Amino acid sequence: KHMADEECDYLFKTVLIGDSAVGKSNLLSRFAKDEFHLDTKPTIGVEFAYRNTKLGDKIIKAQIWDTAGQERFRAITNSYYRGALGAMLVYDITRNETFENVRKWLQELKEFGDPDMVIVLVGNKSDLVDLREVEVEDGQKLAEVEKLCFLETSAKENLNVEDAFLQMITKIYKIAS
Ligand code: GDP
Ligand code: MG
Repeated sequence: KHMADEECDYLFKTVLIGDSAVGKSNLLSRFAKDEFHLDTKPTIGVEFAYRNTKLGDKIIKAQIWDTAGQERFRAITNSYYRGALGAMLVYDITRNETFENVRKWLQELKEFGDPDMVIVLVGNKSDLVDLREVEVEDGQKLAEVEKLCFLETSAKENLNVEDAFLQMITKIYKIAS
């Protein structure tokens, strides 16, 4: 039975942020639909997707917003962040530049986001071991300094994707309940 049809006890808005092509849309499609796409056109992104999760006897509906390509033009607006209780901040472990830009995204979260927002830092594409430019320890260190949860994921191989979203949802639930 599909849980999307059930009533939910909590509805959490969360957002995906990070540079273009780091894998945000594929992380979302993997979590929401268990799908991965080799080519994702940034303009075709959906606005958001839902997935229900059971925590104890509660049904949590996570509404996860995707940027639909706007991150290219730094045109993410206020309404994207409005009411968001969690953010998944994604970089690509094969492109150091996307890791360096994490600070820029944190700055933006400080400016537009709720101060209590749960932030999970995600280093995606962990399957591309030979192309790695960002070490696991670098991600861990940054997460420690900024007090964020941290995971490396592969949307392609379905590694840690579920865990990353569930960590975010569980943490929001602990704050909200
Ligand atoms: P977005 O711009 O951040 O939404 O990134 P996309 O989800 O569109 O992904 C950009 C490209 O990276 C696409 O070609 C994906 O197939 C690829 N990609 C996404 N996640 C992974 C991953 O975990 N591993 C590998 N090898 N490729 C990925
Ligand atoms: Mg996208």
